[in-house]
Amino acid sequence: MPPVDFDHRRRLASAAAAAEEAGLDALLVAPGPDLVYLAGYDPPPFERLTALVVRPGADPVLVVPRLEAPRASASAAGALVALETWPDGADPYEAVGSVVRGCLRFGVSDRMWASHLIGLQAALPDSEFVPASRAVSGLRARKDPGEIHLLSRAGRAADEAFSRVSREGLAGRTEEDVARSLAGHLVDAGHQSAAFVIVATGPNGASPHHEPGPRGIRAGHAVVLDFGGRVGGYCSDITRTVSVGNPGGEVREVHEIVRSAQEAAFRAVAPGVPAEDVDRAARRVIEGAGYGEAFVHRTGHGIGLEEHEPPYIVEGNREPLDVGMCFSIEPGIYLAGRFGVRIEDIVAITEDGVVRLNHAPRDLTVVG
Ligand code: ZN
Ligand code: ZN
Ligand code: ZN
Repeated sequence: MPPVDFDHRRRLASAAAAAEEAGLDALLVAPGPDLVYLAGYDPPPFERLTALVVRPGADPVLVVPRLEAPRASASAAGALVALETWPDGADPYEAVGSVVRGCLRFGVSDRMWASHLIGLQAALPDSEFVPASRAVSGLRARKDPGEIHLLSRAGRAADEAFSRVSREGLAGRTEEDVARSLAGHLVDAGHQSAAFVIVATGPNGASPHHEPGPRGIRAGHAVVLDFGGRVGGYCSDITRTVSVGNPGGEVREVHEIVRSAQEAAFRAVAPGVPAEDVDRAARRVIEGAGYGEAFVHRTGHGIGLEEHEPPYIVEGNREPLDVGMCFSIEPGIYLAGRFGVRIEDIVAITEDGVVRLNHAPRDLTVVG
């Protein structure tokens, strides 16, 4: 894979500016996607505190447990930020407190463990803590070309995994068996890891986040396949609903409604359009066909270093879409006790227009 060089320096500067704009004295960023995004450092979250301190008008500092200093130095963060280490037995919250002396309003990353936040609140008793996402999520939601490149590679690999699993044939297998083979296809087709696999056959398809189980897949079933993996940290997420053998009339009809809704939502996407308008475009088609009650979730979610992140394509989100935003469009119809249909693609708003990052066929695929 050609290395994608992200401009962490620019991101750190933008985050400091966004913090200032949001009236925050400092951002405290724990291990997780914000830390990867800002400093290219991806340690697992632990009971030992690691926190990147980003302040307007000051250099960023990474507070790390002493034993993790070599790993931090070896990461992209090593060349970007000063390290402040704390040894086992010391109070890491006091260590952060001495870095942020004078700061009163803190933005805390979503993924900071509650135990760490509570420790910081005790060490900085006169301070206010709010979500760092107020400053960071607007940056992360607008992908740069390198990020869109990784998302589109992940999307192509997900398309290929779908093509391989549909050629295999599903009849007579269990959901678990198909899920295992899909996870293998995700990696073989170019992901570094499989992240999740939903295989929901027949009546199980009516539960949007069904966990693959021992149920056998039979001729006549509609099967919802929703899966994704990661390429360079960036996620894929695709859903196709296939018919095992000839579909019944209602499966065909419902699939066509969902396909039209997905298409209508895609056509509604443009820079400046409120996110909720895309949800409404899909919902209008499904409501018009009489299935409004059966579309039980929002139309989509942003995607990047996380499978679900802003912007959320949901009623009430008036945030205007913008160049760089990448998100799913995944309307569905769920008929309890019978079957479900969902079709999901990732779309990207690029400088050159709105594109889908998934190209697997959206017509009802009939498999063996
Ligand atoms: Zn989902
Ligand atoms: Zn999905
Ligand atoms: Zn999704």
